[in-house]
Amino acid sequence: MYKQFQDKLTEIARDKYGKSIKALDKEELYCVLGALVNEKCDFHRKQTCGKTAIYFSIEYLIGKLLYSNLYNMKNTDCVEKVLRDNGHSLSEFEDIDDYAFGNGGLGRLAACFLDSAASCEITLDGYGIRYKKGLFRQSFADDGSQLEEADDWQKISDAFAIKREEEAVNVEFSDFTVRAVPFDYNIIGYSFKRINTLRLYEARKLTCDESDAEKIYEYLYPDDSTYEGKKLRLRQQYFLVSASLQNIISRYGIENLEDKIKIQLNDTHPILAIPELINLCIKSNMSFDAALEKCCKIFAYTNHTVMPEALEEWDSSLMKEVIPQIYGIIEKINDMLLYELSNNKEVSFCDCAVIKDGRVKMANLACYVVSHINGVAGIHTDILKKDTLSQWYRLYPEKFSNKTNGITQRRWLGLCNRVLADFLSELCGCDIVEELENIKRLESFRDDSEVLKRLREIKYQNKKDFCSYAEKAYGININPDSVFVVQIKRIHEYKRQLLAIFGAVHLYLHMKKGEYAHLPEVTFIFAGKAAAGYKMAKSIIKYINNVATVINNDTDTAGKIKIYFLPNYNVSLAEKLIPAADISLQISQAGTEASGTGNMKLMMNGAVTLGTYDGANIEICREAGEENNYIFGLRENEVNSLKVNYNPKKLYENTPVIKEAVDTLVSGKFGERYGFMDVYESLINAENPDRYMVLADLTSFISCLIDALNDFKNDKYFNKKSLMNIANSAYFSSDRTIREYAEDIWFKE
Ligand SMILES: *Cc1c(COP(=O)(O)O)cnc(C)c1O
Repeated sequence: MYKQFQDKLTEIARDKYGKSIKALDKEELYCVLGALVNEKCDFHRKQTCGKTAIYFSIEYLIGKLLYSNLYNMKNTDCVEKVLRDNGHSLSEFEDIDDYAFGNGGLGRLAACFLDSAASCEITLDGYGIRYKKGLFRQSFADDGSQLEEADDWQKISDAFAIKREEEAVNVEFSDFTVRAVPFDYNIIGYSFKRINTLRLYEARKLTCDESDAEKIYEYLYPDDSTYEGKKLRLRQQYFLVSASLQNIISRYGIENLEDKIKIQLNDTHPILAIPELINLCIKSNMSFDAALEKCCKIFAYTNHTVMPEALEEWDSSLMKEVIPQIYGIIEKINDMLLYELSNNKEVSFCDCAVIKDGRVKMANLACYVVSHINGVAGIHTDILKKDTLSQWYRLYPEKFSNKTNGITQRRWLGLCNRVLADFLSELCGCDIVEELENIKRLESFRDDSEVLKRLREIKYQNKKDFCSYAEKAYGININPDSVFVVQIKRIHEYKRQLLAIFGAVHLYLHMKKGEYAHLPEVTFIFAGKAAAGYKMAKSIIKYINNVATVINNDTDTAGKIKIYFLPNYNVSLAEKLIPAADISLQISQAGTEASGTGNMKLMMNGAVTLGTYDGANIEICREAGEENNYIFGLRENEVNSLKVNYNPKKLYENTPVIKEAVDTLVSGKFGERYGFMDVYESLINAENPDRYMVLADLTSFISCLIDALNDFKNDKYFNKKSLMNIANSAYFSSDRTIREYAEDIWFKE
């Protein structure tokens, strides 16, 4: 094997650059490695037999491809050895930017699914956009506020993309036509089980005066607070689905297409695929009715959120202006729906209309047409049936199913926590990454002191490794002996970073007075980006940073509590931090987090969940035992009944613990006096105050946190919980999820 790689790399280096491996610079070596990977893929690629499943997603949050590709090829050690013998190392590529064509969970899910399908020998090709600039790079100003910098990920050439100029197609808008140029990425299944393809498109102008054309792929989610921004976003969506469908039709033919492919729509963004496929069918002389019938068989839709503001709608006028032919088709679909529902007494057309009050409702368009609709965790699917999409559930109960999200254990255990994976493989008697279901065998060691001790040692080493990284990368000194309480995810009010920081503020204020002396030292670690236009989320970041500055410099509480907000959360940072976490904060308001996948990654790496009864936390408790996690706060039904008369101001005035924490927003204790008045007002005096009930859950959060910190002192007791979480994490593999999609939706006869 060694010689084979040595020879191959030498050959590619010579052909490409006329150099020896030793003489290559970093970028050249990266490209040589990419070429090697792609060559191996050509060798291992197999014909598809039967139907092909296709994933349409506006986001793919991939992370680094070099390491995961080598990992899935099972060649990491061998390649590292060749490089080392030639004066290089794989770690040279640590600072190459992630592929960050996504904002958070939704895009990461798409990436996990591609990895799982290829590793489970399922044909699943992805389609998306190759954004020129991915998700922005985050840093903090001296005053703690978020700064955004464009993600210039192509400053080092992309070693993995294969450009397919010859398969470029035109996408027509009312005012101009753009050329969609595809770039293919090999998706390598573990041990080369299968090679699938992710195809990402770039836009090219056809004539030199169409400066708008190339803006289409310039940014992931351009700021859509302006009219021009919205228009661009709509263009992006249409660009993706039109280019992809044209390619699919040229590959499979339009005749009997429904027998050859199934397309999964990842959330509302690619739903324009439905009218676009009808459009393309009509151009091939098919009747409208036949085209619609085809769509009903081809498409399935995954809903990702119950946030009403995220159920996409477009102004009819905007759609008419940008893609008039598509709008015309949507009108026709809407007319058919009206006709179908005209005699229905159970469901009113009004609740289902695709076009209503001058708006196009994308979720309604999908629910009417697709064959399958799914939510992403048990509670989420239940809420879809009972509230968000209840009219559709009454109409088409058979379309609905649940597909609880998952994560790939290859990236999120094998690659990011190798020592733990090796230990688990040894204990369970197999390659645990390959046969994750055997991880359950770990349970039989739950009272084995040696195993528990070894687990703690591995966690401790991971914490130390993370501390060294943090020192190098950020110049901070984290104490590995402290308890790592971790909240890492996009910053959003519903995810309630505010609740976590209020909990930390409470501990700090009381530790400063000498209370909580029995608790172990605690380090709160936050990471996450706020959308560039989301003011409240940005204020929350600034507040956390200000709290951290004061606390970390207070000698009274030195050795008791520290807070760090690490900048630029992305897949690579997650891979470093997750293996080091002790306590995973998953504290969204019950009923708001569709599933969460960060919770699963942390669980698989031995963190216990401290969370609300929400999203997949519920299933984590079901699998690993509620007694092995820390659940607090209002349940979804309680949230709903409390909502009616919720009065956070009264809570604030009557509960000293709450008042004490909330007042620090304006007291000047952390930053300027009245510095966080906007946050304060949103909790106390806004029209719909404390929308996510931070104050209602604060006292129960604090007491749960204190319980967990207390338990941490009891090594054996806490490690057993950690072990039970690892042992029961197999359910959260995206291999399980992808098999469910395959069996219930994609390849069902
Ligand atoms: C897993 C992941 C997410 C999703 O995290 P949640 O806690 O489920 O919101 C977001 N961003 C990155 C980089 C991730 O790896």
